[in-house]
Amino acid sequence: MLAGRLDLVNTKFEMTHIDVPEPGVGEVRVKVRAAGICLSDVHLIDGTLTKDDIAATGAWQPTVTLGHEVAGEVEKVGPGVPPMWKVGARVLLAAGKRCGSCPPCIFDSGPCLRPQTRGVNYDGGWAEYAITHYQALIPIPDDLPFEQAAVIPDAVSTSYAGLVRTGGLRPGRSIGLWGVGGLGVHAVQIARAVGGAPVIAFDPLPKARERALAAGADLALDPADSSFAKQVRAATGGLGLDVAVDVVGDTVARDQALAVLGPKGVFSVIGLTPLPLAIHNSVFFCYMQQQIRGHYGYENSDLLDVVGLVRWHRLDLSASVTGLLALKDAPEGVRQVSSKEGDPIRLILQP
Ligand SMILES: [Zn+2]
Ligand SMILES: [Zn+2]
Repeated sequence: MLAGRLDLVNTKFEMTHIDVPEPGVGEVRVKVRAAGICLSDVHLIDGTLTKDDIAATGAWQPTVTLGHEVAGEVEKVGPGVPPMWKVGARVLLAAGKRCGSCPPCIFDSGPCLRPQTRGVNYDGGWAEYAITHYQALIPIPDDLPFEQAAVIPDAVSTSYAGLVRTGGLRPGRSIGLWGVGGLGVHAVQIARAVGGAPVIAFDPLPKARERALAAGADLALDPADSSFAKQVRAATGGLGLDVAVDVVGDTVARDQALAVLGPKGVFSVIGLTPLPLAIHNSVFFCYMQQQIRGHYGYENSDLLDVVGLVRWHRLDLSASVTGLLALKDAPEGVRQVSSKEGDPIRLILQP
């Protein structure tokens, strides 16, 4: 079968033919129908993310099939898979798995210390077929196109989990979101769908603010405008935000979010950056009993929730897929994402 494989030792990506893999115990083989090209794939190919980064999290293999945003159909069921999974089932694949042997895994007490990501630590979905443990399968409705389903298992579900589970967003609570780019705009839809009120989007780009308003934000503000804090207080009855979310991982955005956080407000940090996170007025922070909570990824239950929101049209992913490419054209897709040519939100490979 055709597969997009990365040689991690020599940082060399190529389309190549390999044997169709066989599912082992507890595994199924999925006929891949759609696989997203993520910026992290680009970073693996251009060497920004190295084999040492991957090895630091646990198991790795010298050559790996990329692709962690995968949807398709169950094509072969291995031994020991529960009977609910049948050939032909439409599914999306969770993008990671736990190591199963570190203390948090053994005691079921939080994030795995050696998490393994599909298409990074083990073979992913830039191929005609992908192998997965049945526990990573999430059913998708018949009317959800595979290319939209493939967008769910990364940015969309991470936003959902960061708002709802880590941020504790509830109906009637105010929420501010920093960074409403192509994928951040889903966070606006999610905030609206779960009852956030008001939903305030922050982005310096006028186009992004328009996109946020179209997606259901009550207000879209330019954080570079010196009156932005005043506008937030006006919109929240003088209180400030109940929940603030940095979707992009930006130091300035983080400072702004903390500056307008309200009493007992929660700042959910979704966007990643290695730069420090500063509390400039820690007396105020303590007095207001605010919290900063780190967020990472999602759980399978979050995927189920997001599929439910999409299924019942609370969340529309149709605008997120900006291009479809044949699997063999993965190198061209990588080039487009890397150069941001045409400002793509998500390019999808179709094996
Ligand atoms: Zn991704
Ligand atoms: Zn573990």
